[in-house]
Amino acid sequence: MKFTEILEDFVFLFYPNYCRGCSESLVKGEKIICTRCMLDLPKSNYHLERDNPFYLKFSGRIPVKFVMTLFKFVKQGKVQHLLHALKYKNQPEIGVQLGRVYGADLVNEKYKDQFDVIVPVPLHESKKRKRGYNQSEEFGKGLSEVLEIPCTEKFLKRTRATSTQTKKSKLNRWENVSEVFEVEQKEELKGKRILLVDDVVTTGATLEACGQKLLEAGCGDVSIACIAATQ
Ligand SMILES: [Zn+2]
Repeated sequence: MKFTEILEDFVFLFYPNYCRGCSESLVKGEKIICTRCMLDLPKSNYHLERDNPFYLKFSGRIPVKFVMTLFKFVKQGKVQHLLHALKYKNQPEIGVQLGRVYGADLVNEKYKDQFDVIVPVPLHESKKRKRGYNQSEEFGKGLSEVLEIPCTEKFLKRTRATSTQTKKSKLNRWENVSEVFEVEQKEELKGKRILLVDDVVTTGATLEACGQKLLEAGCGDVSIACIAATQ
């Protein structure tokens, strides 16, 4: 037994890991989310079907290569519980783990060489400072580990903090987000195949605005991957 394994067992003994989905203890070999929860979670499997409903949502609006989401979003369900904890309960590790899970699915389906760089939908700097992390970036980090490509926030910045979007009409939301993103390091971005990532998608206006900015700046192409999308 290696020293690091002994240390891991020791830490596990005093700080038992618990599942972020059901709060049961994790057994050795499980990470962040237990096997039972993983089997329970409603995978969308959109990566198996190019013309999936999520792809069709974007394809009429901006040119996109692949559009996919790990889960279907079910209100009050485990997915909502995990996404809430990721965003508001200081549990960035949920995002990283879900990124690893989706990364493994994508590698199995030969997506590994389809992208050059992962770009998370940015938070405004002040919001990121307050939360301590960007939940979309955490998801990107997990994907990055498995796809073995970098995940970076350097290309896309949110220049203004937007007001809460829940009560606005679709048109207002678009106006609200279309001018808040800016591309940086354009020279390096040129020709790059981007995997744009976000946590949960509702209207898609934010992703559309980000994708458009990246395309205008001369990236090669844009694909989208999210943790969940509302139906
Ligand atoms: Zn569980």
